[in-house]
Amino acid sequence: MLRPMTVAASNRRKKPASRAAAVPGRCAAPRNGAHLAEALLAWYDRHRRSLPWRARPGERPDPYRVWLSEIMLQQTTVAAVVPYYARFLARFPDLRRLAAAPLEDVLRLWAGLGYYARARNLHACAEAVVARHAGVFPDTVEALRALPGIGPYTAAAVAAIAFDRPAMPVDGNIERVVARLHAVAEELPRGKAVVACHAQALMPAQRPGDFAQAMMDLGATICTPRAPACGSCPCRDSCAAFALGTPDGFPRKAAKTTGALRRGAAFVVLRRDGRVLLRERPPTGLLGGMSEVPTTAWSADFDASAALAQAPRYRGARWRRLSGTVTHTFTHFPLELTVYATRLPADAAALPDARFVPLRDLAREALPNVMRKVIAHAVAGSAGAQGGGA
Ligand code: SF4
Repeated sequence: MLRPMTVAASNRRKKPASRAAAVPGRCAAPRNGAHLAEALLAWYDRHRRSLPWRARPGERPDPYRVWLSEIMLQQTTVAAVVPYYARFLARFPDLRRLAAAPLEDVLRLWAGLGYYARARNLHACAEAVVARHAGVFPDTVEALRALPGIGPYTAAAVAAIAFDRPAMPVDGNIERVVARLHAVAEELPRGKAVVACHAQALMPAQRPGDFAQAMMDLGATICTPRAPACGSCPCRDSCAAFALGTPDGFPRKAAKTTGALRRGAAFVVLRRDGRVLLRERPPTGLLGGMSEVPTTAWSADFDASAALAQAPRYRGARWRRLSGTVTHTFTHFPLELTVYATRLPADAAALPDARFVPLRDLAREALPNVMRKVIAHAVAGSAGAQGGGA
């Protein structure tokens, strides 16, 4: 899973928590819940963020835009999503156009946004809504959950925002706000169910969609991970963490474990006419269906001395190991790639299941960021290389 940008954590939509599981006796509507909802909605009416996918006051939300934005925002920042959302809407202005498009076009437009399984599911979901619901999004959590790529969080978000259903979508922002409002003692992720249950209990009967978006906005702009602006918070009177004087001590989190470093080799075949050899990754799994240069497997026990045995077989190719490595951090593991490059004549044929693509056209390729880094490294490292390249 790609993590394409380093930005303020408060703006990144973290992996959504599941919707509230019943935790009898451990969560309930707060005594002053009505006052909290009223204060938060009044704040939202004055300070709501203007987002390209958000309906303006008095407008009816478009379920297609709400769904598209919610899928894009998973694990990604608003700032990163805005240009992708604009390009998607320009190319696929409605659900039917998206459903009718080739998957490759969707993956191309998605390239760089990361978490590519979402793009495949996006396309599958559009097809399913057309096939099962005549192109109209269903308006209940249960029916939305039955669609490809729509989990508990997205179902709640679309149901609340697009259809004003009282379903609370618990993303990272809302999780943080609720954990603070209730000073939840349990560490996350163990305490997620309790937080989600508290969150659902906060949901008012009036304007549930606005309330969900108000909670999101509060978490993104006021109740930030570090140094929350409690002085400007409409929920301060109801906040247990504020009363304790330790707002940023919540949510409590268990120590993180990160995956072990994986290593591998990438092979960049450059042709003298400015083309590079690409192939497609398998349709499922990490970066499924995306383009890549040939690589070895990525593993913790990668044997660098045996890497060249797996290089694409071109008679007479002289491989050069480039200095330095390309590193990339996926959600579950960091990756370090050693890059080998070779230059071939302009008439070299592509290997089976691969193709030569002009370097100037790479922007239109469904290339994940890690592969863009690899190719950039090889092009820079090969500049000035003479003769047979290697
Ligand atoms: S008072 Fe402070 S900690 Fe509590 S919800 Fe508001 S910003 Fe967050």
